[in-house]
Amino acid sequence: MQALLLDGKALAAKTEQALTARVAALKQVNQGTAPILATILVGDDPASATYVRMKGNACERIGMSSLRIELPTETSTEELLAEIDNLNHNEAVHGILLQHPVPPQIDERSCFDAIAIDKDVDGVTSSGFGRMAMGVPAYGSATPQGIMRLLEAYKLSVEGKEAVVIGRSPILGKPMAAMLLNANATVTVCHSRTENLADVVRRADVVVATVGKPEYIRAHWIKDGAVVIDAGYHPGGKGDVELEPLIERVQAYTPVPGGVGPMTINTLIYQTVEAGERKLNQR
Ligand code: NAP
Repeated sequence: MQALLLDGKALAAKTEQALTARVAALKQVNQGTAPILATILVGDDPASATYVRMKGNACERIGMSSLRIELPTETSTEELLAEIDNLNHNEAVHGILLQHPVPPQIDERSCFDAIAIDKDVDGVTSSGFGRMAMGVPAYGSATPQGIMRLLEAYKLSVEGKEAVVIGRSPILGKPMAAMLLNANATVTVCHSRTENLADVVRRADVVVATVGKPEYIRAHWIKDGAVVIDAGYHPGGKGDVELEPLIERVQAYTPVPGGVGPMTINTLIYQTVEAGERKLNQR
């Protein structure tokens, strides 16, 4: 049986239509001015520059504006903190995205944590993570939140299922594990020190690969009927999972590209619209 393809690209496009209407309504209560997502890019990494451009383009597609801040590679932590502080106090800005990773001399965690919680639409602050983990409303980290939105859209419940997350980064693996736990999955988190990774993955009803290595998760590790979520994206269109042999025998999978990636950007703009609504509708 052919597995269900979890089409993040199509879901993102459909969601953009609804977001366009919501932004138009917001403009009406804000003298014609759209909510603004501020994006901060530090340095000249071409992949990061592409991601920031894609996020700005997504804002434009739904009628929102983006304020693009580009800082030189040699920016210090203090300089970046000052920029974030300005944006926190800028009434016109509803969401702030600091593109990860920043150059190594910058204390990225301090800078993420300096983002005001009501503007943390990319879900990167420690307090946002803590709130989300405790089940208190907060903007979720964009990639795992996008994965949860994709699972929900396809009515794939994780309740009672054994979920295995490979990777424990602060913006992906860890919040993914907390979100799956909140959705009543039984969650195991693997990382570079995990022993017998293949055996752990073999138990999973839901596999979420966030390992950052092309096709590192082998197809024969994954059991028949599993749901396979692949957050990886590598040159040549490969993900973190060896997907091809699985398409005949799993329940559902995210394609690479077109699965998780579009949902990440879509979640960022979705959460920015929500932040705009909270701010502007309370006037
Ligand atoms: P990361 O910070 O490099 O984290 C990778 C994680 O994988 C770490 O927790 C690491 O363990 C674990 N790991 C590394 N080697 C392993 C091994 N041999 N066995 C088991 N675990 C291992 O990466 P990230 O930022 O979370 O991103 C992960 C992947 O997702 C990348 O491919 C990235 O491009 C992709 N990504 C996609 C999107 C999207 O929108 N589609 C967004 C963000 C990231 P340790 O903690 O022990 O080092």
